[in-house]
Amino acid sequence: MKLHIKDKFNVELPADTILENSRRQVSKACFSFVIPKKTANPELLHVSPEILDNLGLSQDDAKSEMFLNVFTGNDILPNTKPYAMCYGGHQFGHWAGQLGDGRAINLCEVEHNGKNWALQLKGAGETPYSRSADGLAVLRSSVREYLCSEAMFHLGLPTTRALSLALSGDQVLRDVMYDGNPAYEKGAIVCRTAASFLRFGNYQIFAARQDYDNLKVLVDYTIKHHFAYLGQPSKDVYIEFFREVTNRTLDMIIHWQRVGFVHGVMNTDNMSILGLTIDYGPYGWLEGYDYGWTPNTTDRENKRYRYGNQPNIGLWNLLQLANALYPLIEEAKPLEDILNQYKTDFDKKSLEMMRSKLGLEIHDENDQQLIQELEDNLHLSETDMTIFFRNLSDFKNASEGLGIVKDAFYKPDEIVAKIKTRWEDWFNKYEQRLGLETISFEVRQSKMKAVNPKYVLRNYMAQLAIDNADKGDYVLIDELFKMLKKPYNEQPEYEKWFAKRPEWARHKVGCSMLSCSS
Ligand code: AMP
Ligand code: MG
Repeated sequence: MKLHIKDKFNVELPADTILENSRRQVSKACFSFVIPKKTANPELLHVSPEILDNLGLSQDDAKSEMFLNVFTGNDILPNTKPYAMCYGGHQFGHWAGQLGDGRAINLCEVEHNGKNWALQLKGAGETPYSRSADGLAVLRSSVREYLCSEAMFHLGLPTTRALSLALSGDQVLRDVMYDGNPAYEKGAIVCRTAASFLRFGNYQIFAARQDYDNLKVLVDYTIKHHFAYLGQPSKDVYIEFFREVTNRTLDMIIHWQRVGFVHGVMNTDNMSILGLTIDYGPYGWLEGYDYGWTPNTTDRENKRYRYGNQPNIGLWNLLQLANALYPLIEEAKPLEDILNQYKTDFDKKSLEMMRSKLGLEIHDENDQQLIQELEDNLHLSETDMTIFFRNLSDFKNASEGLGIVKDAFYKPDEIVAKIKTRWEDWFNKYEQRLGLETISFEVRQSKMKAVNPKYVLRNYMAQLAIDNADKGDYVLIDELFKMLKKPYNEQPEYEKWFAKRPEWARHKVGCSMLSCSS
């Protein structure tokens, strides 16, 4: 196995001088060197052929003893020095101080075909940042991260990715619903990849500690390696850097809204500086279209991270990042202008995104109203987001509107009287609006199918794959992995996955509600 290793993060940035792997506050450092924990009986369950390729590895490499050992933490590649990153963050709106890679260990960075890939094991044992937890991960959360991050990539979303999914052979104790009933679960390790795993929290921790020297070192490093097109670091470039992060964050969230992805834990330590979807925990996919829905049980009361609030939270998180960068800029106005621009851009981009979901090419002044009425209607009776928009691409005229989307309704009996009238009104308006367009039905249909996915990783689907995997059957992981590579294509062999969530899954743990326990 030959990887072109080119470490930068742990070579160019300040390291924790203490080498002991004890839980503590780490100051004046971006990371701590740490060695992954040896596992009892590691077993690879799945490897992504594309990520192998991206890293310059072959299928044979993936079958080697070395691959198994390295990507389960039992061996270290020659000339590498694994490390855990130091970061802080706002959790659920409150500053939480130092957090850091408590269950993630970076192995190295690889350069291949002009791209930089940081490789990171999730669940490979404790680090100085593990606080009161064990640094491990269980099979269920690892399957969810592995499948979803690759699915998101193929949906066209910015995201971290995953190379491999493995069992550690160790047992891990978890209290899934935080109700005092802990049980042993199978331990697992995912190797994930990204150009960088830097988060807003990496900058916040230095600002919070008023360590502006290291704040500057880290920002300059980030610009040099990940935003080089902005030029040499200067006050103006710091402002442009913030603008870029803002734009990327907004674009990512618009994509989330488009496909119905709810992250679940948008704490600032889970916000990538590159604008990637990162840290797949208690995320979920909208089934019924509902602005108020969150999959995360920890957030059940306030629903801070509900679907409809993700764009606001993105802005709130960017404000925290602006505060962290302020000491390098010492001028509030340009940062405030960028944050204000986020709001204007959100309205514009969100409207554009919804137009694309409806197959509207030209801009009509009543579009906002049409979209608002549609969203109101979608809330009248539980309506499956994915099926509704996908089937809408078959729309030709209002008289058959309800027939086309009927499979999206969870309670078809409710589509009567006023609710039925409101839908009929809307379909009439939609038909009239389509009359303003010049593109043909076929062109519109194919454009709509390219933005309204047919297959997403519904919560119950991941749970079925997990239940099987727990019994030693990994076939479904592979089936979902393959299907989700082409989420916009008709795939007749997988038609059974283009269906509403079955009723048994409505209240089942893992299918509708998830905890942060992982
Ligand atoms: P999260 O919001 O789930 O991404 O995690 C918040 C913080 O808790 C991060 O610093 C994680 O590294 C840490 N953490 C979560 N689970 C564990 C675990 N099992 N062991 C150690 N640290 C953890
Ligand atoms: Mg996290």
